[in-house]
Amino acid sequence: MSGFKAPPKKNLGQHFLADRSYVERIVLAVNPQPGERLVEIGPGQGAITFPLLRKHGELTVIEFDRDLITPLMEASEGVGRLTVIHKDVLQVDFTKLAGDEGALRLVGNLPYNISSPILFHALEHAAVVRDMHFMLQKEVVDRMAAGPGSKVYGRLGVMLQAYCRVEALFDVPPGAFRPPPKVDSAVVRLVPKAADSVGIADHALFARVVRDAFGQRRKTIRNALQQVCDAAAITAAGLRPEARAEQLEVAEFVQLANHLAATRP
Ligand code: SAM
Repeated sequence: MSGFKAPPKKNLGQHFLADRSYVERIVLAVNPQPGERLVEIGPGQGAITFPLLRKHGELTVIEFDRDLITPLMEASEGVGRLTVIHKDVLQVDFTKLAGDEGALRLVGNLPYNISSPILFHALEHAAVVRDMHFMLQKEVVDRMAAGPGSKVYGRLGVMLQAYCRVEALFDVPPGAFRPPPKVDSAVVRLVPKAADSVGIADHALFARVVRDAFGQRRKTIRNALQQVCDAAAITAAGLRPEARAEQLEVAEFVQLANHLAATRP
């Protein structure tokens, strides 16, 4: 008999994946290989946990809800080696978790109410994260993966794509979850780029350029970036001052920020 008896908790974003076909697609997308270090964020009642554990034999999960800890441990008996960390994932130091073995592979159907903080927490530890497979709101995944010309291309997409390869994998309808969320979902794969291939000279300046450029997306970059640089600097960086942020490639934002970093007084 299942030990998962507590009703879903709204404040913890508990929407459990109930459609096995989507679980299978997630496991296939992750495709764990022997020796890899897999970590699942928010295992819940184990919809993804146990298929992954059966396939890989070993898994670490991070769950905040104390009512789920014992049932998860009990259900893992005879399936594989499950390490359950009872903690808020935002308090988990992934660098320590990775240990000397290095690269973690993160998986999670994330609680949507704190999906952005979790994402940025994971990215702060990008040096020890090999990849991430996350279920998120579809609207967020669309923004993450958008490129120039798309209506939803903006700050989130540029910031993520500068540091990661972003791949929207597939959509998941509300009916696949119990209880169903109000919004459509999607699974995204993020692969952090090696630190030496990111090519950003000054990370804070890059973030500022992207923020200001999209802060007033209807304006030309010459006007939107008035606090950061002038038209001459934009031209010297090889860009058109009359362009709008939504027309620029990620590499062009990097080009502009690096030019500003190099010519700073
Ligand atoms: N993986 C399960 C599934 O697909 O059915 C559950 C997914 S549910 C959307 C999100 C899970 O994250 C819940 O189990 C919830 O308790 C857990 N959670 C919420 N906030 C958390 C936090 N700060 N740290 C760790 N886990 C958290």
